[in-house]
Amino acid sequence: MPLIVQKFGGTSVGDLERIANVARRVASRKEQGNDMVVVVSAMAGETDRLINLAKKITPAPNERELDVLVSTGEQVTVALLAITLESMGYRAVTYCGWQVPIVTDDAYGAARIYDVPKEAMERDLAEGRIIIVAGFQGVDGKRNITTLGRGGSDTSAVAVAAALKADLCEIFTDVDGVYTTDPHITGKARKIGKIAYEEMLEMASLGAKVLYIRAVEFAMRYKVPLVVRSSFNDHEGTLVTEESSDMEKESVRAVTCNTKEAKITISGVEDKPGVASRIFSALADSHVVVDMIIQNSSAEGKTDISFTIPEVDLGKGLEICRGIEEYFQAENINGCEDIAKVSIIGLGMRSYSGVAAKMFSALAREGINIEMISTSEIKISCVIRQKYAELAVRILHDVFELDKAT
Ligand code: ASP
Ligand code: MG
Repeated sequence: MPLIVQKFGGTSVGDLERIANVARRVASRKEQGNDMVVVVSAMAGETDRLINLAKKITPAPNERELDVLVSTGEQVTVALLAITLESMGYRAVTYCGWQVPIVTDDAYGAARIYDVPKEAMERDLAEGRIIIVAGFQGVDGKRNITTLGRGGSDTSAVAVAAALKADLCEIFTDVDGVYTTDPHITGKARKIGKIAYEEMLEMASLGAKVLYIRAVEFAMRYKVPLVVRSSFNDHEGTLVTEESSDMEKESVRAVTCNTKEAKITISGVEDKPGVASRIFSALADSHVVVDMIIQNSSAEGKTDISFTIPEVDLGKGLEICRGIEEYFQAENINGCEDIAKVSIIGLGMRSYSGVAAKMFSALAREGINIEMISTSEIKISCVIRQKYAELAVRILHDVFELDKAT
C-alpha cells in the first residue's frame, strides 16, 4: 500500500473547523487506499504565545524548560486531530516526539534529528491506523524533551517520511506552492511546478520562508519526494525532487530577498596571519553563523574585513569582535542592520554565461549600489541597502523573465 506523509502547518490547524478540514483531507487519502501518517504544527500563534509567556518571566528562560513549554502546542493539535478522526469513524493514534521516538541531540531549541525508529509506527500502520505525529518535538539521549527550531515541523515530517520510506511527503501550508519570488513583493511572481532539491535548499537558506532548510536537507539526503501545496484548495502545488533534464531550460528560477541579516565591518586591521582565524573562531564558538565574508586587499599592512550574520546576533557579534580587538588592532568595528541580501538562484546558471553581469547591470540601471557579492555554482547574492530590497527583487524578476512559464 502506498504510504503518504502529510504535514499541516499552524494556520491549517488554527481552529476546530480547520482541524476538521484537515481530517477530511487525511480521510479522503486513506479512502483512496493509502497508509497515512500526519504531522501537525501547533495552532497558529501558539508557539509565539508560549515563548512570550516565558519571556514575561525572564528575558532568557531556562532552555530545557522552554522546550518543555513550547512543545505543548503540538501535543494539543495531534490530540484534537485524532479525536476528530476517531469521531468520523477512523482509527487514529497520536505520537509525541518521545513516543516515536524522534531522537535528537541535546541542543535545546535547535535540536538535530539523529534517528527515527520506524518499528512502532509500522505496527500501527499495519493495523490500519492513521498515525498522527507531533511536529517540532524530539527527545534527546537522556529523555529530555527537545524542539527542532522554529518551523521545525517540516523537518519532523520529512524525517518521518524518510524513516518510513514514504512514497510522498506533502507539506500543506497557506500558500499554493513555491513561487519564483515572494508574491507580496510582485504580483508577477509565478508558482513553480517542479524544482530541484539543490535549488530549494538555496532558496530556503536565502530567505524563502515556504520550507524550512533542514527539512529540505533531509529530503535531499534521503530522496524524499516533497510536494508543497495549500491546505485551503486543491491546486497542484510544487514538486521538490531530483534534478531532471527539463529543469535546466532557464538560467534563473527564483529571486529571494533576506532583510534579516546585518553586516559587521572591521576596518584597518593588521594584515597578518591568524586574524581571520581569530575573528571567525570566536564567532563560531559562540554559535554565531557567518554568511558572506569579504576581505579587501591590504594597503600599508592594513585591511578591512566585512561579514554578514543574522540580524538578531548583531549585538552578540559586535561584543565578540570588540572583546578580541587587542589581537588585531582594528581602527574601527561597525555594525549595520540596514542591509538586504537579494539573490538569484537556478541550476541553469551552470551552463549559461553572463548571468552575473546581467544581474549587476540591472541593479546598476536603478542606481542600486552593491556592497558585497557572493556566488556559488547555482546562486548569486548581492548585499544592498535595505530600502532598495523590493525594487531589486522586482527588477531582477523582470530581467530574468521569471513571470513567463517555460
Ligand atoms: N510550532 C513551531 C513553530 O511555530 C513549529 C512549526 O510550526 O513548524 O515554529
Ligand atoms: Mg536588515
